[in-house]
Amino acid sequence: MTTHKPHIFIIDTSALFNRINYAAEDIRLATTPLLEKEMHQKGLKDTLELLLATDKLQIIEPTAASLEKIHKVAMQLGDLSNLSDPDQQLLALALDLSHQDFNVVIITDDYSIQNVARRLSISYKPASHPGIREVIKWETYCSACGHKAPKLVHKEPCPVCGTPIKRRAVRKQPI
Ligand SMILES: [Zn+2]
Repeated sequence: MTTHKPHIFIIDTSALFNRINYAAEDIRLATTPLLEKEMHQKGLKDTLELLLATDKLQIIEPTAASLEKIHKVAMQLGDLSNLSDPDQQLLALALDLSHQDFNVVIITDDYSIQNVARRLSISYKPASHPGIREVIKWETYCSACGHKAPKLVHKEPCPVCGTPIKRRAVRKQPI
């Protein structure tokens, strides 16, 4: 059996403004309480509520241990003065989730966030880039027997064992 980590996209306010493809099926998004507040203040309340109501977006408080680590790395890199509290929270959350079973991708246009993420081997993608679909491609497979073929159709029965076919996002290219 192959182990598979789902993608989760950590978003900041610029990601919402740039209309990332958050409506796409199976997309998981996460952000922090401070950023949620900032999104509210910047007039993104409706978008936020839609994402929360459809369970696409999770608001997660980063751990103190990760915040401390981000602080340290940012200081070493000389990026600390460029990182606001919400920026640091975003990075800490990304670090937390990368220790769990997720392929984490930060969506941000902020250069300092990208720089710290690179040092921590966390993937990132600029928000201004059109559509986060570009970082992923879908692979269809049977979760029961492991059958894989290019022409399998999502939700149709597996030709080998009859279990409905699942699909998962796989990375298209290293970021
Ligand atoms: Zn099967």
